[in-house]
Amino acid sequence: MNLLDIGEILDRKDRFVERKHSVLKCNECKATYTRDFKVGDYTFKKLTDEECNECKKSKWLTIEEIYSEWKDPKKKK
Ligand SMILES: [Zn+2]
Repeated sequence: MNLLDIGEILDRKDRFVERKHSVLKCNECKATYTRDFKVGDYTFKKLTDEECNECKKSKWLTIEEIYSEWKDPKKKK
């Protein structure tokens, strides 16, 4: 992302919607993947009640990172 992009985001911020994501890491197969942020998520939290998306057997996921992005609700992908 360059400076021009950031300027554009700030200009249009009022019509953008914040989408939060959590990056999970599986301690079994070492896979990392992103899913939608859930209430209560925080970095380095251990998720013992969720299955790994990749190997489906581990219930020992850790939140590596939480990030948000701004989506334009009028723009369709
Ligand atoms: Zn796994």
